[in-house]
Amino acid sequence: MNKKVIIVGAGIGGLSTALRLLKNGYEVEIYEKNKTIGGCVNFIETETFRFDLSASILMMPDPYKEIFSYVNKNYNDYLEFIQIDPTYRLFCADGNTLDFNNNISSLTKTLEGISKEDSLGYFKFIADVYEKYLISNEYFLRKPQEKPKDILKLETFLKALKIHTFSNAYDYISKYIKNENLRNFLAFQCMYIGISPFNGPNIYTLIPVATQLYGLWYFKGGMYSFIDALSKLIIEFGGIIKNEVTVDEILFSEDKCVGIKTSQGIKKADIIVCNADFPYVMKSLVKDEYYKDKYTDKKLSEMKYSCSTFIIYLGLRKKYPQLSVHNIYLGKNFKEGIESAFKGTLPKNYSLYIYCPSRIDKSMAKNDGECLNIMLRVPNLFFKEITWDKYTINMLTDTILSELKSIKGLEDIEGNIEYKNYLTPLDMESKFNAYGGTAFGLSPNLMQTNYFRPHFKSSKADNLFFVGSSLHPGPGVSLVLNSSRLVTEEILKNINN
Ligand SMILES: Cc1cc2nc3c(=O)[nH]c(=O)nc-3n(C[C@H](O)[C@H](O)[C@H](O)COP(=O)(O)OP(=O)(O)OC[C@H]3O[C@@H](n4cnc5c(N)ncnc54)[C@H](O)[C@@H]3O)c2cc1C
Repeated sequence: MNKKVIIVGAGIGGLSTALRLLKNGYEVEIYEKNKTIGGCVNFIETETFRFDLSASILMMPDPYKEIFSYVNKNYNDYLEFIQIDPTYRLFCADGNTLDFNNNISSLTKTLEGISKEDSLGYFKFIADVYEKYLISNEYFLRKPQEKPKDILKLETFLKALKIHTFSNAYDYISKYIKNENLRNFLAFQCMYIGISPFNGPNIYTLIPVATQLYGLWYFKGGMYSFIDALSKLIIEFGGIIKNEVTVDEILFSEDKCVGIKTSQGIKKADIIVCNADFPYVMKSLVKDEYYKDKYTDKKLSEMKYSCSTFIIYLGLRKKYPQLSVHNIYLGKNFKEGIESAFKGTLPKNYSLYIYCPSRIDKSMAKNDGECLNIMLRVPNLFFKEITWDKYTINMLTDTILSELKSIKGLEDIEGNIEYKNYLTPLDMESKFNAYGGTAFGLSPNLMQTNYFRPHFKSSKADNLFFVGSSLHPGPGVSLVLNSSRLVTEEILKNINN
């Protein structure tokens, strides 16, 4: 008989691992606490508007395609990939607006418009970080980091030294780029994994570089189309998804995981894979100290966590062609605005990411208007200084709207709001059990990457596995898809069907 697997959580990590295991002949049941699956990749829908809840930037499309080839399916039968150009429209507080194109001659024109020196610096930066990206992809992002030997092999160790030069992302960028807007544009993107470009390792400069080299993409209907496709495939392969069933505890006996305790009783399985956020699992679902191993409450409290986000969702009754799909607004005093999210305060100066999918997808705003996500990085809930009440939300909304209105053509935006909603760190915690309300889980800083990140396999129960943002290789949909491939290999290696 096939081995039975229970997966805790139907985020990207849980769904993609489920599909891979189904393909390998396992019997799979997924338990998800929420009504809709997808975890952070989710949606808000009204009669008129559809919003991607959180993830919106589709970079590095290969891992998205790989999951289809893993199960011998053609992704074109499930999804429509659309390439976005320009990748970003940049609005600067000093009034400059710049488009960053895939097309190299349009890009060069934009860059030379800044200065020839910065144009040259940009291309040198791309070339140098591309080399790091290739190393990183070959030796780290696509490889397991479970055993000390995975990092201690001389060749791997030398490669690690080559990619981890010891300046922060901002200083590293500054060696190539003199123009402040261009520097800040690149540094802003390094923050996508939830750590500060002013003290995070410079390896995350690979985010803007991968964007430039591989482009940004969009799924017709929004990011959730990918979840719909995964869900369809899971059902096709005989998997079972149980929504609105909360897992309360992981059950152990004699160095084995025997099942889970849920709101619908005890469920048994041969293998358990936890996709719920790793530190939350250790804190709340693994109750026996022995099975927590080194991830005791004390250790969890000493670990470093990514920042969170505050999002305003706006349904507008008017078109705003001044916006592109992905927009970045660089406020005054960029450094203060960015660093506050990591120092526990709200910024005085706002730099924002603005997502407007209705620019290319009519199905997202049926009123011939626009739908907008406006995203601000904010501290996670471990910082106690901020109370996420109506006062804070209203104050942030007013300030963000007044920044938006400073963009030429968006002066009347406030009068054209038909729908408004919010997401705060408290929602991240209550909706998804994101530990500390973070947006990206455990910080992928130098001391918490590769071998030093939690491992896929429990060291105390050899049939318990973990997948998701807080595991190797880190946060972001494409990396979590890699994480599901690596955990599946680990399961196949350790457990015979
Ligand atoms: C605001 C925001 C913006 C982002 N933007 C981007 C982006 O543009 N591009 C990108 O690539 N990535 C982005 N990311 C990151 C990306 O969305 C995540 O890294 C990825 O979706 C995480 O997937 P996951 O499977 O690790 O976890 P999750 O999505 O957190 O899934 C875990 C699942 O477990 C469920 N669960 C938790 N506890 C229990 C329980 N006790 N019982 C049952 N179920 C439980 C949760 O409800 C959830 O469904 C963004 C994230 C956020 C928050």
